[in-house]
Amino acid sequence: MKLNRKLRMGMVGGGPGAFIGDVHRRASRLDGEIELVAGAFDINPAKSKKMGKELALDPKRVYSTYTEMLKAELKLPEDKRIDFVSIATPNNWHFPIARDFLKAGFNVMCEKPMTLTSQQAKQLQALVKKTHKVFGLMHNYTGYPVVKLARDMARNGDLGKIRKVIVQYPQGWLATAIEKAGQMQASWRTDPKQSGAGCVGDIGTHAANLAEYVSGLKISHICADLTTFVKGRRVDDDCNCLLKFNNGAKGVLHASQISIGEENNLAVWVYGEKASLEWHQEHPNYLYTRADNAPEQVWKRGNGYVGAYSPTAGRNTRLPSGHPEAFFEAFANNYRNFAETIKCAIAGKKPDKITLDFPGVNDGVRGMLFIETVIASAKSKQKWTPMKK
Ligand code: NAD
Repeated sequence: MKLNRKLRMGMVGGGPGAFIGDVHRRASRLDGEIELVAGAFDINPAKSKKMGKELALDPKRVYSTYTEMLKAELKLPEDKRIDFVSIATPNNWHFPIARDFLKAGFNVMCEKPMTLTSQQAKQLQALVKKTHKVFGLMHNYTGYPVVKLARDMARNGDLGKIRKVIVQYPQGWLATAIEKAGQMQASWRTDPKQSGAGCVGDIGTHAANLAEYVSGLKISHICADLTTFVKGRRVDDDCNCLLKFNNGAKGVLHASQISIGEENNLAVWVYGEKASLEWHQEHPNYLYTRADNAPEQVWKRGNGYVGAYSPTAGRNTRLPSGHPEAFFEAFANNYRNFAETIKCAIAGKKPDKITLDFPGVNDGVRGMLFIETVIASAKSKQKWTPMKK
């Protein structure tokens, strides 16, 4: 869908020293269809201005707070004001910012976990339905081409009926109390008022989202164990779950932030009656498949056979095989599909199915239900807790 202009992006969060806001800025630019024109980048207004200066933005559009940004952008003529806002703040701010921008008629790209409670998540879901605005949620790991290939293999029945799904997300960076030394990213993540939950929310939600996306199944029951290993920490830092899926499949999900030596070792295995597959985020260009009594296959991103099997995987590829694509590109894939959907809305056209393949508000609701079910299960004495509705 061609518009004769770039989409105008505003950002909340992503101030000096912040992690993911910068990734959003770079990834959204990758295809040359989005430009950053405004922002309230930091909880500290002076730092927001500093960031705006570094980014060479018009100082009039660098704001002290998101509410100031909202009011000022609404006053601008339609052909100047932002088309959408990207939210890259700590979790507690996602809900009020997304709610207020949606209500004012803006499209929203939001970081995960979407809110602090499933009740807030359902409010956003209802608002998206009511306003018809486009809502993206940055579960970036489903943006990888061979993850889309894996999803298509499961969907096409190549694996047969799925029996088992294993997903893991171990990290080691919170193995000691670095929050006590004021480490920026650790400080708010270990404050329940800002994060809502610990490891289960921060990376458990990515693992659950990946398992459901690739398998095409829904988690129906969870038997969970949550631990806080680091003394004095106020949120969980290790999460182990047995899973049941809606087709009777079984699974295991573990996420951890105290697994020393692990970086971002997100990986998924899906076992069906006919075949199985395996994908590792730290080696994201390869998908391994295995069938009974047959040699293992390695599907390598960028080769023609990948796009021939899965047009979605092909479309979400930019470089030829052997030139690795990774984190930025997966983010950019979500941005491109999100932007294309907004352009279709502007032009009054219906986006095609491939374009709509990016995580949204329904994934955000699932994520919050997952967190709440894990917490309820970990507190309960019964073996299985049904997924909250
Ligand atoms: P961070 O601490 O590095 O940065 C947060 C930024 O938000 C800071 O600049 C802070 O000043 C700013 N901020 C806080 N409140 C604000 C407000 N009300 N208005 C404007 N700015 C405000 O945090 P981070 O690691 O970048 O995480 C941010 C969000 O992104 C979290 O929700 C986190 O879960 C998510 N995240 C997602 C991924 C992913 O792979 N999708 C990776 C990392 C973080």
